[in-house]
Amino acid sequence: MAVIIDGKELARKIRQNLKIECEELKSNGIKPKLAVIMVGDNPASKIYVKNKSKACTEVGVEYEEYLLNKDIKQNELLDLIEKLNKDKTINGILLQSPIPEQLDINEAFRTIDYNKDVDGFHPMNVGKLALGQDTFVSCTPYGVMKMFTEYNIDLCGKNVVILGRSNIVGKPLIQCCINNNATVTVCHSKTQNTKKITREADILIAAIGKAKFVTADMVKDNAVIIDVGINRDKEGNIVGDVDFENVKEKASYITPVPGGVGPMTIAMLINNVIKATKLQSNL
Ligand code: NAP
Repeated sequence: MAVIIDGKELARKIRQNLKIECEELKSNGIKPKLAVIMVGDNPASKIYVKNKSKACTEVGVEYEEYLLNKDIKQNELLDLIEKLNKDKTINGILLQSPIPEQLDINEAFRTIDYNKDVDGFHPMNVGKLALGQDTFVSCTPYGVMKMFTEYNIDLCGKNVVILGRSNIVGKPLIQCCINNNATVTVCHSKTQNTKKITREADILIAAIGKAKFVTADMVKDNAVIIDVGINRDKEGNIVGDVDFENVKEKASYITPVPGGVGPMTIAMLINNVIKATKLQSNL
Protein backbone atom coordinates (compact mmCIF):
# COMPACT_ATOMS: atom_id res chain seq x y z
CA MET A 1 0.00 0.00 0.00
CA ALA A 2 1.15 3.52 -0.83
CA VAL A 3 2.64 6.07 1.54
CA ILE A 4 -0.02 8.75 2.00
CA ILE A 5 1.47 12.19 1.37
CA ASP A 6 0.16 14.27 4.25
CA GLY A 7 -0.37 17.70 2.69
CA LYS A 8 -2.21 18.97 5.74
CA GLU A 9 0.72 18.29 8.09
CA LEU A 10 3.31 19.50 5.59
CA ALA A 11 1.36 22.73 5.08
CA ARG A 12 1.16 23.20 8.87
CA LYS A 13 4.97 22.94 9.13
CA ILE A 14 5.44 25.39 6.25
CA ARG A 15 3.06 27.87 7.90
CA GLN A 16 4.96 27.49 11.18
CA ASN A 17 8.26 28.40 9.48
CA LEU A 18 6.58 31.29 7.64
CA LYS A 19 5.26 32.57 10.97
CA ILE A 20 8.85 32.82 12.24
CA GLU A 21 9.89 34.67 9.07
CA CYS A 22 6.92 36.98 9.41
CA GLU A 23 7.80 37.77 13.04
CA GLU A 24 11.37 38.59 11.98
CA LEU A 25 10.09 40.98 9.30
CA LYS A 26 7.74 42.63 11.79
CA SER A 27 10.57 43.09 14.28
CA ASN A 28 12.25 45.14 11.52
CA GLY A 29 9.11 47.23 11.03
CA ILE A 30 7.99 45.37 7.88
CA LYS A 31 4.40 44.11 7.88
CA PRO A 32 3.58 41.67 5.05
CA LYS A 33 0.10 42.32 3.65
CA LEU A 34 -2.09 40.57 1.10
CA ALA A 35 -5.03 42.17 -0.74
CA VAL A 36 -7.66 39.77 -2.08
CA ILE A 37 -10.21 40.88 -4.68
CA MET A 38 -13.36 38.84 -5.14
CA VAL A 39 -16.03 39.76 -7.70
CA GLY A 40 -19.57 38.43 -7.15
CA ASP A 41 -20.45 35.76 -4.63
CA ASN A 42 -19.38 32.40 -6.06
CA PRO A 43 -19.89 29.95 -3.14
CA ALA A 44 -16.66 27.96 -3.80
CA SER A 45 -14.64 31.19 -4.06
CA LYS A 46 -16.06 32.32 -0.72
CA ILE A 47 -14.73 29.15 0.93
CA TYR A 48 -11.29 29.51 -0.73
CA VAL A 49 -11.06 33.16 0.28
CA LYS A 50 -12.06 32.34 3.86
CA ASN A 51 -9.35 29.66 4.06
CA LYS A 52 -6.76 32.07 2.70
CA SER A 53 -7.72 34.73 5.21
CA LYS A 54 -7.53 32.18 8.07
CA ALA A 55 -4.04 31.06 7.02
CA CYS A 56 -2.85 34.69 6.73
CA THR A 57 -4.08 35.44 10.24
CA GLU A 58 -2.39 32.34 11.63
CA VAL A 59 0.97 33.25 10.07
CA GLY A 60 0.68 36.95 10.95
CA VAL A 61 0.26 38.26 7.40
CA GLU A 62 -2.14 41.20 7.26
CA TYR A 63 -5.11 40.67 5.03
CA GLU A 64 -7.48 43.03 3.24
CA GLU A 65 -10.51 41.86 1.29
CA TYR A 66 -12.23 43.73 -1.55
CA LEU A 67 -15.67 42.31 -2.34
CA LEU A 68 -16.94 43.77 -5.60
CA ASN A 69 -20.44 43.68 -6.99
CA LYS A 70 -20.95 41.11 -9.80
CA ASP A 71 -22.07 43.90 -12.17
CA ILE A 72 -18.86 45.90 -11.82
CA LYS A 73 -17.31 47.30 -15.04
CA GLN A 74 -13.85 46.32 -16.28
CA ASN A 75 -12.45 49.83 -15.74
CA GLU A 76 -13.62 49.81 -12.10
CA LEU A 77 -11.81 46.52 -11.49
CA LEU A 78 -8.65 47.80 -13.20
CA ASP A 79 -8.81 51.06 -11.20
CA LEU A 80 -8.86 49.08 -7.95
CA ILE A 81 -5.89 46.97 -9.10
CA GLU A 82 -3.94 50.13 -10.05
CA LYS A 83 -4.72 51.62 -6.64
CA LEU A 84 -3.42 48.50 -4.88
CA ASN A 85 -0.34 48.44 -7.15
CA LYS A 86 0.55 51.95 -5.93
CA ASP A 87 -0.20 51.24 -2.25
CA LYS A 88 3.18 50.62 -0.60
CA THR A 89 1.54 48.87 2.38
CA ILE A 90 0.23 46.10 0.08
CA ASN A 91 2.79 43.43 -0.84
CA GLY A 92 0.64 40.87 -2.64
CA ILE A 93 -2.49 41.14 -4.79
CA LEU A 94 -4.72 38.18 -5.56
CA LEU A 95 -7.72 38.23 -7.86
CA GLN A 96 -9.92 35.26 -6.99
CA SER A 97 -11.20 33.41 -10.06
CA PRO A 98 -13.68 32.88 -11.57
CA ILE A 99 -14.91 36.41 -12.19
CA PRO A 100 -18.15 37.28 -14.06
CA GLU A 101 -18.11 36.82 -17.84
CA GLN A 102 -18.40 40.53 -18.75
CA LEU A 103 -14.89 41.01 -17.30
CA ASP A 104 -11.59 40.20 -19.02
CA ILE A 105 -9.60 38.21 -16.47
CA ASN A 106 -6.42 38.16 -18.58
CA GLU A 107 -6.35 41.94 -18.76
CA ALA A 108 -6.93 42.05 -14.99
CA PHE A 109 -4.07 39.60 -14.32
CA ARG A 110 -1.64 41.58 -16.47
CA THR A 111 -2.64 44.83 -14.74
CA ILE A 112 -1.44 43.48 -11.39
CA ASP A 113 2.12 44.68 -10.68
CA TYR A 114 4.17 41.55 -11.41
CA ASN A 115 6.19 42.16 -8.24
CA LYS A 116 2.93 41.78 -6.25
CA ASP A 117 1.59 38.89 -8.36
CA VAL A 118 1.61 36.24 -5.60
CA ASP A 119 -0.52 33.87 -7.72
CA GLY A 120 2.08 33.86 -10.51
CA PHE A 121 -0.48 34.55 -13.26
CA HIS A 122 1.09 37.70 -14.76
CA PRO A 123 2.62 36.99 -18.22
CA MET A 124 5.99 38.22 -16.90
CA ASN A 125 6.00 35.59 -14.15
CA VAL A 126 4.62 32.88 -16.46
CA GLY A 127 7.43 33.71 -18.91
CA LYS A 128 10.11 33.67 -16.22
CA LEU A 129 8.95 30.23 -15.11
CA ALA A 130 9.18 29.03 -18.73
CA LEU A 131 12.74 30.37 -18.88
CA GLY A 132 13.63 28.60 -15.62
CA GLN A 133 14.19 31.90 -13.80
CA ASP A 134 13.34 32.73 -10.20
CA THR A 135 9.73 33.97 -10.08
CA PHE A 136 6.38 33.67 -8.34
CA VAL A 137 5.30 30.13 -9.20
CA SER A 138 1.53 29.70 -9.09
CA CYS A 139 0.54 28.24 -5.77
CA THR A 140 -0.92 24.82 -6.65
CA PRO A 141 1.99 23.67 -8.88
CA TYR A 142 4.40 25.13 -6.33
CA GLY A 143 2.69 23.13 -3.57
CA VAL A 144 2.97 19.94 -5.64
CA MET A 145 6.71 20.53 -6.20
CA LYS A 146 7.20 21.16 -2.50
CA MET A 147 5.59 17.79 -1.75
CA PHE A 148 8.10 16.06 -4.05
CA THR A 149 10.99 17.76 -2.26
CA GLU A 150 9.72 17.00 1.22
CA TYR A 151 9.08 13.34 0.44
CA ASN A 152 12.43 12.97 -1.42
CA ILE A 153 10.72 12.11 -4.68
CA ASP A 154 13.32 12.84 -7.37
CA LEU A 155 11.89 13.85 -10.75
CA CYS A 156 15.16 13.56 -12.67
CA GLY A 157 14.68 11.29 -15.69
CA LYS A 158 11.20 10.20 -14.56
CA ASN A 159 8.21 9.93 -16.87
CA VAL A 160 5.73 12.47 -15.53
CA VAL A 161 2.22 12.44 -16.99
CA ILE A 162 0.02 15.47 -16.27
CA LEU A 163 -3.73 15.23 -16.84
CA GLY A 164 -5.02 18.75 -17.60
CA ARG A 165 -3.51 21.80 -19.29
CA SER A 166 -5.16 24.75 -17.53
CA ASN A 167 -3.23 28.00 -17.15
CA ILE A 168 -3.35 27.81 -13.37
CA VAL A 169 -2.40 24.15 -12.80
CA GLY A 170 -1.48 21.96 -15.79
CA LYS A 171 0.67 24.38 -17.80
CA PRO A 172 2.82 25.73 -14.93
CA LEU A 173 3.25 22.13 -13.74
CA ILE A 174 4.75 21.23 -17.13
CA GLN A 175 7.42 23.91 -16.65
CA CYS A 176 8.08 22.98 -13.02
CA CYS A 177 8.58 19.31 -13.92
CA ILE A 178 10.79 20.07 -16.93
CA ASN A 179 12.86 22.45 -14.78
CA ASN A 180 13.38 19.44 -12.47
CA ASN A 181 14.62 17.26 -15.37
CA ALA A 182 11.51 15.10 -15.77
CA THR A 183 10.27 13.85 -19.15
CA VAL A 184 6.76 15.29 -19.35
CA THR A 185 3.65 14.19 -21.24
CA VAL A 186 0.43 16.18 -20.99
CA CYS A 187 -3.05 14.79 -21.63
CA HIS A 188 -6.15 16.92 -22.21
CA SER A 189 -9.72 16.46 -23.37
CA LYS A 190 -8.64 15.71 -26.97
CA THR A 191 -5.97 13.14 -26.04
CA GLN A 192 -6.44 9.70 -27.60
CA ASN A 193 -5.97 6.59 -25.49
CA THR A 194 -5.15 8.35 -22.24
CA LYS A 195 -4.97 5.07 -20.35
CA LYS A 196 -2.04 3.83 -22.47
CA ILE A 197 -0.17 7.04 -21.60
CA THR A 198 -0.96 7.10 -17.89
CA ARG A 199 0.14 3.47 -17.52
CA GLU A 200 3.66 4.57 -18.54
CA ALA A 201 3.82 7.24 -15.83
CA ASP A 202 6.33 7.00 -12.99
CA ILE A 203 4.57 10.06 -11.61
CA LEU A 204 0.95 10.84 -12.50
CA ILE A 205 -0.55 14.25 -11.67
CA ALA A 206 -4.31 14.56 -12.14
CA ALA A 207 -5.77 18.08 -12.52
CA ILE A 208 -8.94 17.78 -14.60
CA GLY A 209 -11.89 18.22 -12.23
CA LYS A 210 -13.56 14.83 -12.81
CA ALA A 211 -14.43 12.77 -9.74
CA LYS A 212 -12.45 9.48 -9.48
CA PHE A 213 -11.44 9.64 -13.17
CA VAL A 214 -8.11 7.88 -12.56
CA THR A 215 -8.82 4.23 -11.82
CA ALA A 216 -6.39 1.51 -10.71
CA ASP A 217 -6.12 0.03 -14.23
CA MET A 218 -4.75 3.40 -15.49
CA VAL A 219 -1.82 3.31 -13.09
CA LYS A 220 1.54 1.55 -13.22
CA ASP A 221 2.67 -0.45 -10.16
CA ASN A 222 4.52 1.76 -7.65
CA ALA A 223 3.71 5.00 -9.46
CA VAL A 224 3.57 8.27 -7.50
CA ILE A 225 0.05 9.73 -7.70
CA ILE A 226 -0.70 13.41 -7.10
CA ASP A 227 -4.37 14.35 -7.04
CA VAL A 228 -5.08 18.05 -7.57
CA GLY A 229 -8.81 17.65 -8.27
CA ILE A 230 -11.51 18.90 -5.94
CA ASN A 231 -14.95 17.51 -6.85
CA ARG A 232 -18.17 16.46 -5.19
CA ASP A 233 -19.37 12.88 -5.61
CA LYS A 234 -23.04 11.84 -5.85
CA GLU A 235 -23.32 11.81 -2.04
CA GLY A 236 -21.94 15.35 -1.85
CA ASN A 237 -18.55 14.32 -0.41
CA ILE A 238 -15.38 16.06 -1.55
CA VAL A 239 -13.31 13.70 -3.71
CA GLY A 240 -10.34 14.06 -6.02
CA ASP A 241 -9.75 13.11 -9.66
CA VAL A 242 -8.33 9.78 -8.48
CA ASP A 243 -10.16 6.69 -7.22
CA PHE A 244 -8.12 6.89 -4.02
CA GLU A 245 -9.25 3.64 -2.32
CA ASN A 246 -8.27 1.40 -5.23
CA VAL A 247 -5.30 3.33 -6.62
CA LYS A 248 -3.56 3.53 -3.21
CA GLU A 249 -3.16 -0.27 -3.28
CA LYS A 250 -0.98 0.01 -6.40
CA ALA A 251 0.87 3.30 -5.94
CA SER A 252 4.10 3.96 -4.00
CA TYR A 253 2.95 7.44 -2.88
CA ILE A 254 -0.45 9.09 -3.14
CA THR A 255 -2.05 12.37 -2.03
CA PRO A 256 -5.51 12.25 -0.41
CA VAL A 257 -8.41 14.64 -1.12
CA PRO A 258 -9.07 16.48 1.10
CA GLY A 259 -5.81 16.92 3.01
CA GLY A 260 -3.37 16.72 0.08
CA VAL A 261 -2.64 19.42 -2.48
CA GLY A 262 -5.36 21.84 -1.19
CA PRO A 263 -3.65 22.90 2.07
CA MET A 264 -0.29 23.10 0.25
CA THR A 265 -1.74 25.61 -2.22
CA ILE A 266 -2.63 28.00 0.59
CA ALA A 267 0.72 27.54 2.36
CA MET A 268 2.55 28.42 -0.88
CA LEU A 269 0.38 31.50 -1.31
CA ILE A 270 1.56 32.78 2.08
CA ASN A 271 5.11 31.80 1.08
CA ASN A 272 4.75 33.99 -2.03
CA VAL A 273 3.43 36.93 0.03
CA ILE A 274 6.50 36.74 2.28
CA LYS A 275 8.74 36.44 -0.80
CA ALA A 276 7.07 39.51 -2.37
CA THR A 277 7.45 41.47 0.87
CA LYS A 278 11.18 40.68 1.05
CA LEU A 279 11.71 41.59 -2.61
CA GLN A 280 9.91 44.91 -2.18
CA SER A 281 12.00 45.61 0.94
CA ASN A 282 15.24 44.71 -0.91
CA LEU A 283 15.90 41.83 1.51
P1 NAP B 1 -9.92 23.51 -15.78
O1 NAP B 1 -9.46 24.89 -16.04
O2 NAP B 1 -11.36 23.15 -15.93
O3 NAP B 1 -9.04 22.54 -16.71
C1 NAP B 1 -9.30 21.17 -16.78
C2 NAP B 1 -8.31 20.54 -17.71
O4 NAP B 1 -8.60 19.14 -17.73
C3 NAP B 1 -8.41 21.04 -19.15
O5 NAP B 1 -7.11 21.24 -19.66
C4 NAP B 1 -9.11 19.90 -19.89
O6 NAP B 1 -8.72 19.74 -21.23
C5 NAP B 1 -8.62 18.71 -19.07
N1 NAP B 1 -9.50 17.55 -19.22
C6 NAP B 1 -10.85 17.50 -19.15
N2 NAP B 1 -11.27 16.23 -19.35
C7 NAP B 1 -10.16 15.48 -19.53
C8 NAP B 1 -9.95 14.11 -19.80
N3 NAP B 1 -10.95 13.26 -19.89
N4 NAP B 1 -8.68 13.67 -19.92
C9 NAP B 1 -7.64 14.52 -19.83
N5 NAP B 1 -7.78 15.85 -19.56
C10 NAP B 1 -9.02 16.31 -19.44
O7 NAP B 1 -9.54 23.03 -14.31
P2 NAP B 1 -8.37 23.52 -13.28
O8 NAP B 1 -8.67 24.88 -12.82
O9 NAP B 1 -7.03 23.17 -13.82
O10 NAP B 1 -8.70 22.53 -12.08
C11 NAP B 1 -8.64 21.13 -12.20
C12 NAP B 1 -9.10 20.50 -10.91
O11 NAP B 1 -8.22 20.90 -9.88
C13 NAP B 1 -10.49 20.95 -10.44
O12 NAP B 1 -11.12 19.88 -9.75
C14 NAP B 1 -10.19 22.07 -9.46
O13 NAP B 1 -11.21 22.23 -8.50
C15 NAP B 1 -8.93 21.55 -8.84
N6 NAP B 1 -8.05 22.58 -8.27
C16 NAP B 1 -7.53 22.30 -7.06
C17 NAP B 1 -6.66 23.18 -6.48
C18 NAP B 1 -6.07 22.82 -5.15
O14 NAP B 1 -5.57 23.70 -4.45
N7 NAP B 1 -6.09 21.56 -4.77
C19 NAP B 1 -6.31 24.36 -7.12
C20 NAP B 1 -6.83 24.61 -8.40
C21 NAP B 1 -7.70 23.70 -8.96
P3 NAP B 1 -8.97 20.88 -22.37
O15 NAP B 1 -7.90 21.90 -22.15
O16 NAP B 1 -8.79 20.13 -23.64
O17 NAP B 1 -10.35 21.41 -22.14
